[in-house]
Amino acid sequence: MKQTILICSAHPDDEILGCGGTIAKYSKEGNSVISIIFSYGESSHPHLKKYITTRIRVKESQKADKIVGCKETIFLGLPDGKISTKVKNKSTREKIKKLIKKYKPDKIFTHSIEDPFPDHRAIYKLIIDSANEINYKGNLYSFDIWSIIRIKKRNAPKLIVDISPTFKLKLKALKCFKSQGISMFQLIPAVYARAIINGINYNHKFVEVFNKIK
Ligand SMILES: [Zn+2]
Repeated sequence: MKQTILICSAHPDDEILGCGGTIAKYSKEGNSVISIIFSYGESSHPHLKKYITTRIRVKESQKADKIVGCKETIFLGLPDGKISTKVKNKSTREKIKKLIKKYKPDKIFTHSIEDPFPDHRAIYKLIIDSANEINYKGNLYSFDIWSIIRIKKRNAPKLIVDISPTFKLKLKALKCFKSQGISMFQLIPAVYARAIINGINYNHKFVEVFNKIK
């Protein structure tokens, strides 16, 4: 049966870095993938006016999400870099709860609790708490952006996705984030390294690995 999948990430590009290959795979299989991005990433360019950055990053993300086959990209406009200050807001939680109720996703993917970036951990907390509050029955998975080697939870249940057929689409989507310039360019080798190392561990060419939260 076809599934609906929600991808919940803090900033434009997190969704591709974290699970771009998986999104592409699921969408190729006919499933509906919805990407929810909680901030516009407007603080990424302090020298540009915020609204210009917002416009650029929204466009880049929409283009990238289209490449990997997202059906929709939804921006929630939380303040970049300060997401943790908004997580306890009732209206923020209501928004995400409404979206979960609307789409009734079979799977939700979000950031990892082990992520060093406070915005990412804030989204993790927001999603887990909101999902629990409405007694969400589907599966919840977390993705990593930065670390290759996991420190904790090594024995936690995992979802292994063979992204060999869609890895190229992930790279193509990453290249949409031109405003991230050199920093994105520098990430590409790490993206390769992670997919290859995971691939060796799980006997495929390229793999994305997720922790199963519930
Ligand atoms: Zn991020």
